[in-house]
Amino acid sequence: MNDKNESIHEFDFNLICKYFSGLKRQGPGSKEITIKALSFIDNLSDKSRIADLGCGTGTQTLFLAQNTSGQITGLDLFPDFINILNCKIKLLGLQNRVKGITGSMDNLPFQDEELDLIWSEGAIANIGFEKGLNHWKDFLKKDGYIAVTYESWYTNERPAEIEKWWVDAVPGIATIGHNISIMQKAGYIPVAAFTVPENCWIDNYFIPQKARQEEFLKQHAGDKAVETFIALMKREEELYSKYKHYYGYVFYIGKKI
Ligand code: SAH
Repeated sequence: MNDKNESIHEFDFNLICKYFSGLKRQGPGSKEITIKALSFIDNLSDKSRIADLGCGTGTQTLFLAQNTSGQITGLDLFPDFINILNCKIKLLGLQNRVKGITGSMDNLPFQDEELDLIWSEGAIANIGFEKGLNHWKDFLKKDGYIAVTYESWYTNERPAEIEKWWVDAVPGIATIGHNISIMQKAGYIPVAAFTVPENCWIDNYFIPQKARQEEFLKQHAGDKAVETFIALMKREEELYSKYKHYYGYVFYIGKKI
């Protein structure tokens, strides 16, 4: 239990990344929802250029690669994640179509209107939903698509405990309806929005962390910052099981007008 109310913002980025480097996913998701989101996107070919922003170690980047035929660039701020992704790309022999690069989602290394599709799972909160949709739009061709997952409220009201946790972690968190209207205002046709199912959180995000937490605590025995960080990660899981009817990730898919 994290009874001192630490916030994720108080931890060193390197510590968080070291922990997540040892995990297949850095956020909730699944192959099935990546493919489901892709099914709404109708203009892709082997000429398409796709960017996966905040790709982490790239589990969903590779699902994208295996289910499209275009050129894919995965981008993340953290070089270790990109090294892991580039190793996986090599192992799968996808180097001619897929690459990982280090960079920041608020200063993208693409040309105006270069991209057919911008993907981003569990990462847009780092720049902000509205800011991300506005900034990234310049890099999309007309009729290009954006597909992002973002933490969202399922209900208009929710208990104070979970409200406080998420407003601290993601200050812009809002309801699904509100986020769709932000997407529309930013100049996209909202094509689809669907909730990310529970198994994406439990089986693919929380359960794999259990062994990692034990291992990480052992590797950093006696390190108070690590102990507090792990307590925070466990708290995230407890809160999810208590309040999962009030919030979750939602996949938002939009088409640039
Ligand atoms: N898409 C992956 C990772 C999600 S975690 C998955 O679903 O598993 C969020 C990712 O955003 C992390 O990998 C983190 O390093 C990255 N990130 C945070 N701030 C960023 C920024 N400004 N630019 C690019 N990536 C960023």
